[in-house]
Amino acid sequence: MKHRPRLSAHVLPRIYAASQHSYVVLYDTEALRSHPVSRRAWSCISAMDGTRDVEGLAAFLTARGTDASTEEITGFISELESQALVEEGVVAPRAAITEESAVDVDRRLEPLPRYALECDGAGSCCRFYPSIAFTPHDVAKARSHCPDVEDSGQDERRVFVPLIGVESPMRAVALRDGRCNYLEPDGACLVHKRGGAAAKPIGCNLYPSRFVDAGHSVRLLPHLECACVFRSAAVPAATDPAPQTMRDLPLGASVERLESPVILTATLAASLAEVQATFDALSEVACTDCVGAFLQIARQLNAGLSSEALAKLVGAAEGASAFEQELFTAALEALERRVLPLSKEEWRSPKDLVLVTANALLMAIDVLKAGLAEFLGGPGVYAADEAFYFRVQMFGLGLCARSGTRSSRVLAFDRAFRLLLGRALGVVSVLAELGDPAFKCPLSLVEAAMRGYGLGVYVRELEPAIEAAFSAAEDGAALNPC
Ligand code: SF4
Repeated sequence: MKHRPRLSAHVLPRIYAASQHSYVVLYDTEALRSHPVSRRAWSCISAMDGTRDVEGLAAFLTARGTDASTEEITGFISELESQALVEEGVVAPRAAITEESAVDVDRRLEPLPRYALECDGAGSCCRFYPSIAFTPHDVAKARSHCPDVEDSGQDERRVFVPLIGVESPMRAVALRDGRCNYLEPDGACLVHKRGGAAAKPIGCNLYPSRFVDAGHSVRLLPHLECACVFRSAAVPAATDPAPQTMRDLPLGASVERLESPVILTATLAASLAEVQATFDALSEVACTDCVGAFLQIARQLNAGLSSEALAKLVGAAEGASAFEQELFTAALEALERRVLPLSKEEWRSPKDLVLVTANALLMAIDVLKAGLAEFLGGPGVYAADEAFYFRVQMFGLGLCARSGTRSSRVLAFDRAFRLLLGRALGVVSVLAELGDPAFKCPLSLVEAAMRGYGLGVYVRELEPAIEAAFSAAEDGAALNPC
């Protein structure tokens, strides 16, 4: 058994309250499992920083007014260990930031053209994510403006836990029924209401902006995870924003770096500059069917076509071939295995948007299994949402891996799959009469669930099959051009 246990860095503790209970949920981000524990158990875990043995933990709890025997603590550590949630001893201090990793503050910020966000005030983004991060300064502002929320003015621990492990100075706010503790019933932010926009956490003020390092500039685009992000695209911005540089970004904004060279397929890589030129050309293509467009990109990546030739093919692409349909069926199975555990998290409140979405996603998967061909027929009412999605993916270099070795081909297939899922979730939301405003753009919920709850890793188990199937199709085409 671990002598001086420390909560592993891949475990994220989060306070979750519902009408009948309040837990601290330990999210294992590697195994994608959640473990609800009592607030008393959390008191013990919060002292597991790798410096205390069993006696030290018992003494810590006594000092906090919570008694536990050494036998009880020993059993608890063994339980955590059996779930791979704890490690031994303290963590090595982090390496200092080097000059090479320093940000070039004069680099140009390049916003998505013709776009300005108009928030709908529905608070969807404040009631979906498991981690809403607060800096120590954000915590101080929230507690001073809203000391009455869970009486957190008296004790920070009533509303906040460390963002990572037990020692992170960054904090995560408690969720009630899956909603941020500061979210009012009418969708307003209480911290904003009382302290003004500047009092809100940095991350909330920045959301849904994301920043992508595109070499000569940093691209500014929205996360596609809120209905209002898509609705805003329906009204093109009248004026372009004033030129900005990285210097204008608030502290705390993080920039996504891309891998270079970009892995296009299992057998082909290209420089980031070349790939960017191609995707920039595609970003202005008006697609007939964006599922077909992403699949066409996946098919043509090895063909060495000019940007113009590729744009023409992508613009006219429709539907999916037989082998692509088989891959979609495999993707549905793989995703279902990821969504099922989320739909069975019994500690969640029935009102929790995450639970509602997980159950709706399972229905969407069933609907797609039963009628895949029908959904491949076209975007229907979601044509504008899908066209915007395609444009943002191209502009934000969404088919270039942020880390690891995932190829653009796999990512293009994944994006086509997400669009199909959005179409099916839309049908489910109508049939099941899901009136939550978040369902106004089902594709945004698909995106939020893929990132926020790690569902996007479904594609990991399909990568070899996707590469092999597209390569075999290329070989077949080479042998038989008819
Ligand atoms: S602090 Fe305010 S803006 Fe941020 S998630 Fe909570 S309610 Fe939303």
